[in-house]
Amino acid sequence: MSNRTFTMIKPDATEKGYTGAILEKINAAGFRIAAIKMLHLSAEKAGEFYAVHKERPFYGELVEFMSRGPITAAILEKENAVEDFRKLIGATNPAQAAEGTIRKLYAASVGENAIHGSDSDENARIEGDFFFSKLEQF
Ligand code: ATP
Ligand code: MG
Repeated sequence: MSNRTFTMIKPDATEKGYTGAILEKINAAGFRIAAIKMLHLSAEKAGEFYAVHKERPFYGELVEFMSRGPITAAILEKENAVEDFRKLIGATNPAQAAEGTIRKLYAASVGENAIHGSDSDENARIEGDFFFSKLEQF
């Protein structure tokens, strides 16, 4: 089992000034930052990242949203990282997210839901490598 996951603080949360507060929640939950950067995805790169959702009706909206402003991408380390981080961020739809979760606190809707978390160890590695070279992962 891997002990790493990958996250992005999405453009909605960046715009609202929640980056620092979200990083603090991540830190308080015991995750170590193994890589981090702020960047603005092109529509092409956002589409590539979410290619798995290409056939879904919300794909166009998702690509537009994810490329509309800066994000913060990070690789996080902790025991049981993937599962524990999904618990910390809460359900995809903030209306269904548990109290105290990052999406409950900071997300507005199912589309603009503040933060991404990898859904498997394999995807965590693929997604981390999408953003960070080996020299940038500590
Ligand atoms: P993420 O992969 O970003 O961590 P998730 O795993 O909780 O989110 P997915 O099913 O992988 O959810 O969907 C990826 C993203 O696509 C969601 O986070 C959200 O931004 C967007 N999305 C998902 N479902 C919808 C929907 N019904 N309408 C609009 N956008 C959606
Ligand atoms: Mg997902």
